[in-house]
Amino acid sequence: MSVWAVIVAAGRGERLGLDRPKAFAKLGGRPLLAESLERLDGSDWIESIVVAAPPDWEEPVILLAEELSCSKVVSAVAGGETRAASVRAALAEIDDDTAVVLVHDAARPLLSEDVIDRLLTTLNEGWDGVVPALPIRETVKRLDGDRVAETVDRQQLVIAQTPQAFVWPVLRDAARAGDDATDCAALVEAGGGRIKAIVGDPRLLKITDQTDLDLVERWL
Ligand code: C5P
Repeated sequence: MSVWAVIVAAGRGERLGLDRPKAFAKLGGRPLLAESLERLDGSDWIESIVVAAPPDWEEPVILLAEELSCSKVVSAVAGGETRAASVRAALAEIDDDTAVVLVHDAARPLLSEDVIDRLLTTLNEGWDGVVPALPIRETVKRLDGDRVAETVDRQQLVIAQTPQAFVWPVLRDAARAGDDATDCAALVEAGGGRIKAIVGDPRLLKITDQTDLDLVERWL
């Protein structure tokens, strides 16, 4: 089975307040992107990797991949204004005879082979896509301005993480048809695709600010 991985790394990461994009924030003395690049490159499942880089940072991404001896990286393309646009730019690089695509946020450095394993094994059971998800432990409210309109039943709600795995033709067609979405599963859902949620991993935390970086650095 040929599996390609897309790493979306084109976010600006304004909340980190750095002079460079979030993918190049330092984590354990290396660019944040190094962690997911190395882990996907080292996965037995993954054949090729495409990175959606911050515009004008395509070359530093390729140099980083070379420095890390990540030989599966086939290209770094300029990302777009939104995550969905970055995904579309990266998907354009994928060979059409690919079976499965895994899409991952560079902002979640600590992905494990166990998660990749469980995603792809579940996808093989006949789903269009599989996402790691965590239950919500807090009470959830819907607001109308700053007034609480209602308390939402959290039993049916989860937090979706990445990597997310998809049958390639399904994601390809959904990404073409859909416009904006904060994850790829939403694109496939909108086209009527069947997505399965599996148990996620708290260590797949998405880095948005310095506190997250400090926490993930302790987990390295
Ligand atoms: O900003 P957000 O939390 O949606 O970012 C999730 C992931 O998507 C990050 O890894 C970020 O680099 C990526 N992204 C992107 N292009 C954008 C915005 C976000 O590749 N325009």
